[in-house]
Amino acid sequence: MTDKPLVAITGASSGIGEATARAFAEDGYPLLLMARRLERMEALKLPNAICRRVDVCDRAAIAAAVAEAEAQFGPVDMMFANAGIARLADIGRQDPAEWDEMIDINTKGVMNTVHAVMSGMIARRSGTLVMMSSIAGRKVYPDHTVYCGTKFFVHAVSESLRAYLSPYDVRVLVVSPGVIETEVLNSVTDKQTLADYKANKVKMGGGIGADIVAQLILDAYRLPQKALVQEICLTPTRQA
Ligand code: NDP
Repeated sequence: MTDKPLVAITGASSGIGEATARAFAEDGYPLLLMARRLERMEALKLPNAICRRVDVCDRAAIAAAVAEAEAQFGPVDMMFANAGIARLADIGRQDPAEWDEMIDINTKGVMNTVHAVMSGMIARRSGTLVMMSSIAGRKVYPDHTVYCGTKFFVHAVSESLRAYLSPYDVRVLVVSPGVIETEVLNSVTDKQTLADYKANKVKMGGGIGADIVAQLILDAYRLPQKALVQEICLTPTRQA
């Protein structure tokens, strides 16, 4: 067992979510890990980790997983609303079904995730929400149209939530990475957009490791509750 508070992460089956799970586990935090690929989370074999197959579009499923983990480890003290997809494409030829998927997961999924823990944090007057946006939530790119829309949404919601929650001493940290080496582009179907993205990445000397994002989140979280890092904006040096 551990005396540290419970940390919950969505999208913990790969990439930044997985790296964050590893970093917090190494520091002794009990974890609730959520994603659709249960086997990937279980394969991490992290100590004191409850892994649950959860689609963030299913509000009841998130709430049930949170209730189950809280019964074992006490209240969620940090929720990382990280799950997201990036179906980057030329908007003129993109299938609108891809818009639906991004909007559902990256916007409604984030709200569902926040909803599962927010009232508890308000009641306890403590807690940290970590919201995954992107550099594409601060500036636009022509082949990121709907993705940018979803990430600007996360930025706006984070700022509003920060204003709403700060009187309750609940912290809201938004994470806005540039190019990070993960599986996020595996779902891109637009071959030209993918080729352009990869060429740009080569020009900037490759992406940053997900472990660096995870370490920054851990460092920010470990500050005293009265100290808030409002945003982590990490990019490859040459992406600026
Ligand atoms: P990955 O593709 O490696 O990770 C995405 C994670 O989200 C996976 O664990 C996936 O799990 C999960 N996920 C996707 N859809 C759902 C869903 N409906 N329900 C639950 N979990 C879901 O990519 P990253 O680690 O890069 O992505 C993590 C976040 O970081 C995303 O929000 C992304 O937009 C953001 N980001 C990434 C950047 C990058 O360059 N990599 C840059 C800026 C932001 P599963 O499929 O098992 O459900």
